Amino acid sequence: MRIVVCIKQVPGTTEVKLDPETHTIIRDGREAITNPFDTFALEEAVKLKESTGAEVITLSMGIPDTKKLLSDAVARGADGGALLSDRTFAGADTLATSYALSKGIQKIGPVDLILCGKMAVDGDTAQIGPELAEQLKIPHITDVYKIESVWNGVVTLWHNVEEGTEKLSAKLPLLLTIAKDCNQPRMPSIAGIRKSLTTEIKTFTAPEVGADPALCGLNGSPTQVLRTFTPEQRGSATELTGTAAQQAAGILSVIREVL
Ligand code: FAD
Repeated sequence: MRIVVCIKQVPGTTEVKLDPETHTIIRDGREAITNPFDTFALEEAVKLKESTGAEVITLSMGIPDTKKLLSDAVARGADGGALLSDRTFAGADTLATSYALSKGIQKIGPVDLILCGKMAVDGDTAQIGPELAEQLKIPHITDVYKIESVWNGVVTLWHNVEEGTEKLSAKLPLLLTIAKDCNQPRMPSIAGIRKSLTTEIKTFTAPEVGADPALCGLNGSPTQVLRTFTPEQRGSATELTGTAAQQAAGILSVIREVL
């Protein structure tokens, strides 16, 4: 079984700087970390490697510096990594990102299971997992917090739904998005660090993965971030005190005022 874990490099700070012209994140490699959700996805993959002998490959689209994070994933148990890095990919929205990642996965070869984080902490859309599954024409299940078993090409798992939790079984190939805090991501081992020093993270350009430039980066993005701002605080709050009956009477008078 081959598992691909999608890893996004995100700013390691709450202060996200945007390019004033393109309105995309300035990713100059400083203070960059693996998207926290992806660390849980990687840990699930490495646990499956231990129980089934699966091969774990990480995949990212990003600046050349992202290689460091993919090497760190090797130190934590992954077998290898692939990085899509090319000016053509720059400024991608979720559609162009999922298209590029689908091309990366096709380049890696036959893949049984794809794990994404539930969402990225910078873009925050949680769209990549489902969109990537659609690009690859495979089913997906979101917000998975426990992979119970993988047996005979069938994955049995638990995931969060609006009303609570749900247990499902689904056939491979499959894409899962992994919930936060569903496991305890391991630290790099000494053997892992040694392996990461000799494991080449392969970098691919758009032509090398057969990606159509018209569908990549800014060119292939039907949406663009025009402006990012903190909404102005509107309205005011009134605190009602007293007994329950007095507070209820207070609420009633507020409602009567606006009716
Ligand atoms: P999510 O869908 O939240 O990420 C889920 C998972 O997908 C990740 O955990 C990871 O496993 C995987 N993943 C995501 N990106 C990569 C990657 N580059 N490489 C490998 N795996 C990856 N785009 C829009 O289309 N619409 C918007 O409204 C929008 N708003 C944005 C607002 C801001 C402030 C910013 C900074 C960006 C916005 N973007 C938007 C762009 C968006 O961040 C990028 O398209 C990004 O490449 C993917 O979206 P995401 O970060 O929301 O990922």
